[in-house]
Amino acid sequence: MKWIAMIGLVALLGLIFSGTACAADPAAPGWMTILPTSEAREILATLGTGHEAYTGLGDATIVQCGAGFIEKLKKKTPSPVMTELQPGERLWLLTTKDPAFREIKFPGVRVLWKGSGFRVLAATETGQMGLAAKMSDFSRLEPLPANETILTPLRRAAWKSRPREPIDDLLGRLDRDAFVADLQALVDLKTRYTYAEGANRALEHCEKVFRDLGLATRRLPFTSGATPRDNLEAFLPGTDAAAAGEVVVLGHLDSTSEKAATLAPGADDNGSGAAGVLALARLMTKPGVTSRANLRFLLVLGEEQGLLGSKAYVAGLKPEDLSRIRAVINMDMIGFDRKPPLSLLIETASFNAAMAEKAAELAGRHTTLATQISYRPWGSDHVPFLNKKVPTLLTIESEFDDNPNYHRTTDLVGAMNLDLCYQILRLNAALLAEYAGAQAPAPGPTPGEGAARHR
Ligand SMILES: [Zn+2]
Repeated sequence: MKWIAMIGLVALLGLIFSGTACAADPAAPGWMTILPTSEAREILATLGTGHEAYTGLGDATIVQCGAGFIEKLKKKTPSPVMTELQPGERLWLLTTKDPAFREIKFPGVRVLWKGSGFRVLAATETGQMGLAAKMSDFSRLEPLPANETILTPLRRAAWKSRPREPIDDLLGRLDRDAFVADLQALVDLKTRYTYAEGANRALEHCEKVFRDLGLATRRLPFTSGATPRDNLEAFLPGTDAAAAGEVVVLGHLDSTSEKAATLAPGADDNGSGAAGVLALARLMTKPGVTSRANLRFLLVLGEEQGLLGSKAYVAGLKPEDLSRIRAVINMDMIGFDRKPPLSLLIETASFNAAMAEKAAELAGRHTTLATQISYRPWGSDHVPFLNKKVPTLLTIESEFDDNPNYHRTTDLVGAMNLDLCYQILRLNAALLAEYAGAQAPAPGPTPGEGAARHR
């Protein structure tokens, strides 16, 4: 509803300003308009002067243009969404996972478009300075990029019946019930706030899960503020690590809320991702399941205080350690979805586009997920790895921006969509098959199956 109201407002502003538009210099980029991405290329080719600049944001394409382009667009389209920039205003892109920016109210700042953690803003210099002062590890402000796709359009799953493939033997072994039990156990600790005793108990709990699976574990101490904290890593040796290297499965274990010290259940953020790390460890330690690459299952603390655990982990890696890593899969908030279809945001940097495209392809083939790729990584533990040019993906619910329980005491299992968790885990297991050479044997015949097999 808010979205429609905003579009209406933007359109109305556009209509008001269009009456006063002066077409003196058709090349001057004094305007922005929003075109459907499916039509943007053709509209720019037919009406464009060559001075326009586009920014791809999913199904919307933002175009910076002059008055001449707007005049032509109005003749072709009955009521285009458009805004004239006011004197001193420039266009900015805000990438954010900070709920404080959900409703931006800064003097001198207008929100022209929003979605999937992005805001397109028109800001005066004063407005921009006010915003810039609020930037952090979770929010980033830059001039609206020109002629670049920041977020790909939504791709729906091409789910259809097909012959059984070897990968189905791996994906079929994912234990959804065990995932839900792990998730509930983490939530039952009440809080996993980095500086609370609950964080230690969460580490001990996960350490026991890993050890019961037969994995070697180690604590990796780091200092958060003046407080010593630990990351936890479990190690599963590969069958051909000399050739296949290592793959890291990552999630942050800490939680936060308005009462972080005593109650921060953090079911979605990030019990879901932490239990997801345990779920993939459970999968890879099932009888007969193997991986060519070494696997590291990594749970970090201090994410909510500024990615402290993951920054410390990456800082502790030597160049030869970094070069052994073929892929990092980060799960942060994999369980909120209210609007169909089930949807996933895959976030990475442009140098790693091939891996993101592969993930979208695997999601289309092995899950029911609709996917989008964001090329503006920010605000979670994938960032320190990407900064070292390690091929890393964040898998995150695409509706995180609309999660009303985000960082609240109401972030509970009952508010989650467990189907989304399961589908994202299927995708990440498929990524392990692709990047770690994970595989599972075909199940043997079970009693009663014999007759069917002879038909
Ligand atoms: Zn998180």
